[in-house]
Amino acid sequence: LLEAIDFHLHLINIEWLSEDIRPTFENLNPFLFNNISIVSSASNLCNYLKGEGIKYAVFLMSYHDLIPLNEVSNEFLYKFCKGYDMLIPFLSIEPWAINMSGRRGEDVLERFVKDMNFKGLKLHPPTGFFPNEEYLYPLYRKAEELNIPVMFHIGSSIFPNMKLKYCDPIYLEDLAIDFPDLTIIMAHGGRGIYYNKAFLMAKLHDNIYIDISGLPPINLLKYFPDLEEISDKVLFGSDWPSIPKGIKENLKVILSLPLKDSTIEKILFKNAERLINKHGLI
Ligand SMILES: [Zn+2]
Repeated sequence: LLEAIDFHLHLINIEWLSEDIRPTFENLNPFLFNNISIVSSASNLCNYLKGEGIKYAVFLMSYHDLIPLNEVSNEFLYKFCKGYDMLIPFLSIEPWAINMSGRRGEDVLERFVKDMNFKGLKLHPPTGFFPNEEYLYPLYRKAEELNIPVMFHIGSSIFPNMKLKYCDPIYLEDLAIDFPDLTIIMAHGGRGIYYNKAFLMAKLHDNIYIDISGLPPINLLKYFPDLEEISDKVLFGSDWPSIPKGIKENLKVILSLPLKDSTIEKILFKNAERLINKHGLI
């Protein structure tokens, strides 16, 4: 029986997409745009995900050009997920933008975690920061104190003007060592040019994980030929709705890969379950 935990999905609010950007999303997943009621309520979304074989789902707010990622969109995610245990909301913020507005990222994080039950933090370095910059340390200290995982977008991005240099996995090494109790997740596993480095970081550091979202699963062993060596550190993520086929299709591909059954079970369920328990995500 197919049952998985999806560690990387995005909630999309159609009304917040401009006429310019909407076709991009529509091309990525025509099925969703023909069945838009899937995202019209949490109960619809949960039913859809269950049908795809998903037991728990970590949700991030998606990019919206009319309402960019900020408090408003995170509050939308909070309200959407509220009361549905299978939907696990992670906070997406741009720490440099928060600093520019005269506030502190750690205060914003604390408020969302304590008042709105956010379970994790998602950061997007390609907008213009290295993960190990010193001004971010109080943010990581707060995440460690609140016992929440921090996910970084580590790899190429579909959005314009994003810089891949900020996604070099080597910059996570400082954090892994300076914050031994912090769970660090490399979303997209170094997509593009950093697969080897991402692999090595996950292998060398107990607290660094890879989520395979946004990678065609059929190519998984091409990107990570020694995947078995880090079988405890790999998390299934779909990056839905930015995928051409359904989540279930991706799960089926992973089940067909020449990996040990125990490794597949870890990737699809057990590793995520361990993090859920460690960080009280449900
Ligand atoms: Zn994503």
